[in-house]
Amino acid sequence: MGKVMVIGCGGVASVAIHKICRNSEVFSELCIASRTVSKCDALKEKLQNTTRTRITTAQVNADNVEELTALIKKEQPEVVLNLALPYQDLTIMDACLAAGVHYIDTANYEPEDTAKFEYKWQWAYRERFEKSGLTALLGSGFDPGVTSVFSAYALKHYFDEINYIDILDCNAGDHGYPFATNFNPEINIREVSAKGSYWEDGRWVETEPMEIKRVYNFPEIGEKDMYLLHHEEIESLALNIPGIKRIRFFMTFGESYLTHLRCLENVGMTSIEPIMYEGKEIVPLQFLKAVLPDPSSLGPRTKGKTNIGCIFIGKKDGQEKKLYIYNTCDHQECYKEVGSQAVAYTTGVPAMIGAMMVMTGAWKKPGVYNMEEFDPDPFMDALNKWGLPWKISETPDLVD
Ligand code: NDP
Repeated sequence: MGKVMVIGCGGVASVAIHKICRNSEVFSELCIASRTVSKCDALKEKLQNTTRTRITTAQVNADNVEELTALIKKEQPEVVLNLALPYQDLTIMDACLAAGVHYIDTANYEPEDTAKFEYKWQWAYRERFEKSGLTALLGSGFDPGVTSVFSAYALKHYFDEINYIDILDCNAGDHGYPFATNFNPEINIREVSAKGSYWEDGRWVETEPMEIKRVYNFPEIGEKDMYLLHHEEIESLALNIPGIKRIRFFMTFGESYLTHLRCLENVGMTSIEPIMYEGKEIVPLQFLKAVLPDPSSLGPRTKGKTNIGCIFIGKKDGQEKKLYIYNTCDHQECYKEVGSQAVAYTTGVPAMIGAMMVMTGAWKKPGVYNMEEFDPDPFMDALNKWGLPWKISETPDLVD
């Protein structure tokens, strides 16, 4: 039993906090700290009479290491769960080191002025976390996160060697808007408008944005168009899965989403270069975020399912073997349970589980680690228990 501090109070945090409050045996206390404290207070108000977890709230600017360190020292949590934005990863890691607490996040660091995400900045903290006897667990969402745990699980139980991984992220949900993003629009649009890349034969192969398209027949959903994107778990899986020859990541997009995105790009609305407008500097993408529907408002409108998983091809006892491990999640079921759509749900549940793994000591060793570096079994059990049951198909369709 211990105390967790959640930083951020947006779509993903809201789901993680609902689940933390149902898991009072592990999380006896919770401090919700974010930039806009009224959102933290509203969630506390909604949940405090439904849980044995004691909830407090705080206002904090997580870009400010001193301010955050002081808050962590005052609240004294065992673990900090970072559910703010990727821009805050390093300042929150610095504050965790200064205050002596474990760290968990769901997305790797990205400098605000360059749309490029890589692990090098966070891996540079390895020695400092080791020396402090603290654990930093990186990427405890669905992808990265559960996809990384699926990879470790496949290797442990089904393969002697995995040679090919295709990570597939399908969102077949329909919210009825011509254009909206399912999580933070700024982060989402930066991700999908960047160049694609995949790992093959020990090196990165770069593609133009959305250059590689495939059609895949998803279990419980049907055929969808999907496009190759760069994704952060490729970087760590390439190092941690021995014998790997190729890793690709595909995400589904509908025609309407892509047409709107292309148009917004063409008129400069997705740019992260600041411009002057009526004497004030603004970033076009941040302005776009302000006019788009808030992802947290999509919950009641979104219908349909997600299917996220990994296709593995490798060898067992000298024979070629293939496997698809995946989860399907229903938007409306998620909304009924926690008031959020499935994209926030599939990220918030693993975030809670990652915090639980570190809090209980099931996953705890000094240093900075990616998800596939720990024993996958307790995490896989927890997924079944906490709302994201997974399935295995030994006869999946392959992606060419
Ligand atoms: P939201 O924009 O909904 O929420 C972000 C929250 O962080 C808001 O409450 C915001 O405050 C707060 N915040 C932002 N800046 C600061 C700051 N400087 N100090 C304190 N609080 C701050 O984002 P999401 O919930 O959609 O996403 C959360 C994280 O989850 C992101 O890092 C995203 O990349 C990651 N993610 C990971 C996925 C995975 O599968 N691994 C999938 C989807 C998302 P305010 O309320 O004031 O705006």
